[in-house]
Amino acid sequence: MAAPTVRPVRTGFVRVKEAQRRRRPGGPLRTLTDSDWSEWLPIHAWLVEHDGGLLLVDTGETARAATEPGYFPRWHPYYRLAVDFDVRPEDELGPQLRRLGVDPAEVGTVVLTHLHTDHAGGLAHVPHAHVWVDADEYALAKGFAGRLRGYPSNRWPASFAPTFLAWRDEPVGPFERSAPLTPDGSVVAIPTPGHTPHHLSVLVRGGDAGYLLAGDVSDDEQIAIDGVPDGVAPDAAVARETLRKVQVLAATEPFVYLPAHDPDSEARLAERRLFGER
Ligand SMILES: [Zn+2]
Repeated sequence: MAAPTVRPVRTGFVRVKEAQRRRRPGGPLRTLTDSDWSEWLPIHAWLVEHDGGLLLVDTGETARAATEPGYFPRWHPYYRLAVDFDVRPEDELGPQLRRLGVDPAEVGTVVLTHLHTDHAGGLAHVPHAHVWVDADEYALAKGFAGRLRGYPSNRWPASFAPTFLAWRDEPVGPFERSAPLTPDGSVVAIPTPGHTPHHLSVLVRGGDAGYLLAGDVSDDEQIAIDGVPDGVAPDAAVARETLRKVQVLAATEPFVYLPAHDPDSEARLAERRLFGER
């Protein structure tokens, strides 16, 4: 049996406030009032090829987020003040998969780390894939209440009919629960709450190295090493505890750390550079 492989799928760029990347004092308004923008950060999805087929972790962003006035609700201050997208139509998931020689229709399974726009924005490119999400994340994201929380659920494609992950009491290192995504358990979801209350990550157990496809656990690896929660996590203590567990897992089962928005993720993947290695 071949070990699973991971390939980056970059669907354009986003920039956020520095107060979002590293939490600062100031309460929930910190990302709106901060005048300090990050550099342009990649929006990554990850394509996992395993014995059973192709599995995609996240779907990236749509160009509509960058080009269509009113795509996000104007009444929501976060979209008006705290986030900026640079996504062209050719950056979207479908064209980027084809660039890798993959027909989007071949992607059988999608797992969403969470339901924010830059992770669910490419769903329309994989309408026939089986989509896994966390049930509680979906409950927070759906409907108008979800839109108030910053999930543009009105933009989900009509095809979006996710299946809820069945968490098991099967520990992965310090993480008490997990949900296998392949029959052989080489690809497994683990709960990594913080950025959102029910955020998840995907651990790929490769041959010589594992990979943690970490969504928005942190914007980059250094922030995870420093254990600093982001500025939008509803509960900083929960986010801090997840970062601690990521560090513990790295010490026992080394992995290449691949969050969605780290400009260095692709280089680390190419070099198989493990979490904490320079
Ligand atoms: Zn997010």
